[in-house]
Amino acid sequence: MNREIFLCAINNILSGTCKEDCKFCTQSVRYHADIERYNYKSIDKIVDEARQAKSNGALGYCLVTAGKGLDDKKVDFVARTAQAIKKEVKDLNLIACNGTATTAQLKFLKEHGIDSYNHNLETSKRYYDTICTTHSWDERYQTCLNVKEVGLQLCSGGIWGMGESDEDRESLLQAIVSLNPESTPLNFYIPNSALPIKSRNISKEEAIKIIKKARKLLGEDKLLMVAGGRELLFGGSEKEMFDAGVNSIVIGNYLTTKGDEPLKDITMLEEINYKVATSCNG
Ligand code: SF4
Repeated sequence: MNREIFLCAINNILSGTCKEDCKFCTQSVRYHADIERYNYKSIDKIVDEARQAKSNGALGYCLVTAGKGLDDKKVDFVARTAQAIKKEVKDLNLIACNGTATTAQLKFLKEHGIDSYNHNLETSKRYYDTICTTHSWDERYQTCLNVKEVGLQLCSGGIWGMGESDEDRESLLQAIVSLNPESTPLNFYIPNSALPIKSRNISKEEAIKIIKKARKLLGEDKLLMVAGGRELLFGGSEKEMFDAGVNSIVIGNYLTTKGDEPLKDITMLEEINYKVATSCNG
């Protein structure tokens, strides 16, 4: 087993202004969740935050925008931000996470310094209509195919614990595997009283089984990350999730929920005998 853990940080560069109805997402304006909402951050601030993430040990840096997908303004902003970060902060793998995207938009991002594109399938094709009615699962899958077509690295995963069945979980994993992503984030649903999905139907034991299965199906050379929900499910027992096959985590805050302090995570890794990876090339 790979004892090195890859750290990734997220920057929510445009927050909480989405008109879609994804029932798990506090960034939808429909549910009035109590989160910080803002328009584009300044590029200088994003570059500073990228520098800070790098000094905290992050190898991956993800630029996230709320909303269904890319448009001309968004693609231009993300491209300029990527260029500015690449110029100022060396050796940071840049990931864009901006929703549905065409091959032309993805090519443009690639030309401006984006290395990887994150687009999650979220749940099974069958269950998707229950959690979102404003866009389709097929549209999500197509964006993932577009990412591969233009030669960007694909980061694609989903969210578990939103009321789906065991069959849905299996189907989601198989769909992710069919895309052969470089990196797969596993998120475990974080209930929020403002959202239509009120509770989480997943235990730590079930999550461990999903991690083991994902590692087996994806292969040993891929990044398998536990992202949202890590503190809730694995707080204090992170070793179990790494032993099951996870080799990447998000440090710092998530999109709209707070994570642990980066230093706390690094100390935790040392205590359980895992090393922080210092290079994407292993
Ligand atoms: S499209 Fe993205 S930002 Fe918008 S509600 Fe759905 S998950 Fe949230």
